[in-house]
Amino acid sequence: MNQAMGRPPRRRPVETREHAASGSGASPRSKPIRVALERGGPGASAGERTSIRRVREPLLRWYDAHRRDLPWRRSRDPYAIWISEAMLQQTRVETVIPYWERFLARFPDVGSLARAEQDDVYALWTGLGYYSRARNLKAAAESIVADHGGRLPDTAEGLRTLPGIGRYTAGAVASIAFEREEPLVDGNVVRVFARLENVEEDSGEKAIVERFWALAAELVAGPRPGDLNQALMELGATLCTPKRPQCLICPVRAGCLAQAAGRAESLPRKAKRTAVRPLRALAVAIDRRGALLAARRPASGLMAGLWELPGGLLEDGEEAKDHAARIVREKVGLEVRELEPVGRVEHVFTHRRLALEVFRARALPGTRVALADYTAHRWVDAEGLLALAHAGSTRKALGLLGLCDEDSARAAGRSRK
Ligand code: SF4
Repeated sequence: MNQAMGRPPRRRPVETREHAASGSGASPRSKPIRVALERGGPGASAGERTSIRRVREPLLRWYDAHRRDLPWRRSRDPYAIWISEAMLQQTRVETVIPYWERFLARFPDVGSLARAEQDDVYALWTGLGYYSRARNLKAAAESIVADHGGRLPDTAEGLRTLPGIGRYTAGAVASIAFEREEPLVDGNVVRVFARLENVEEDSGEKAIVERFWALAAELVAGPRPGDLNQALMELGATLCTPKRPQCLICPVRAGCLAQAAGRAESLPRKAKRTAVRPLRALAVAIDRRGALLAARRPASGLMAGLWELPGGLLEDGEEAKDHAARIVREKVGLEVRELEPVGRVEHVFTHRRLALEVFRARALPGTRVALADYTAHRWVDAEGLLALAHAGSTRKALGLLGLCDEDSARAAGRSRK
């Protein structure tokens, strides 16, 4: 069900994810958006509405003149737009472009994605991280085929019934693909709003997030809702950047309180970061007649469903070399010989920092694989393992073992935040 091409580009840039900031004290001398937000609901006066237009109209004019030519902006196909939105979450535009192109070439419509093998979807996702997105895409495609006649629901409410589609993605797809007046708030929008309103409170507070959603709803009401949402995100990605915002050429400079106060670069105020938990583990490259053992993790939990070199977690105080043979025996049932340490790689997940001790070993002839925790195994070469859905830590381990090139191993470190 490919739809449309042609018509003016759409959409958005950079990272994502809701953060939110507070609407704190507007200065008495300039209160453009806030006034419209606080008093600009259904009963807003013409004057209050004018405040919104002060941002809306120049923003759209600027977007028309300066938006980036991104491949998904040339499509009007809701499916293609949805895939781009799923990929762009937590991931940079430049990273997403080749993934999006490959994905659309392989799965050009909802039906082909619904019929796909999950492993084939994973394979095209490898390197983008957050594999739950790939799982949810396929589950949602199946639901669209089974319950919606093969067409994406055309409202935010309908979209939110699908696996993996939350408030942001529903707003993005509904507004961009279906021209619904649906708001969205991502990291870029939070930054723009926090600065426009000179919000000093923590942008991660729930009340502040809700306030930004209300403001986004106010702004999106009117013509060209999809372009308006994309313009907001584009502004955050290209001019109202975290460091050195380019206020001098900003289309909404006249209504920006933080700029007027000289505080743009210090906003939004960052939420306190969740502490990153250290995690220690080991992995063993087990060789059997030139092939490596790859094992698939359980369907839930950290790195769910991904393939890796077998291994396991280490308790505090445990030396990896003292436990490698035991962990291999317990996890995959094999006895190994010529076990030798190779080194350590580090990988940061969202809230965890993994230190992975890497070993190589040979499988003792006559012992057979018997899995515990893992759900499947294959004997493959390094390329075969890399063709399966795997975490960045596995790619780094293969790099350390000299089984994949350094660029690939480094890319594993870059691909995720
Ligand atoms: S004037 Fe500066 S701080 Fe304000 S929205 Fe524009 S780029 Fe951001």
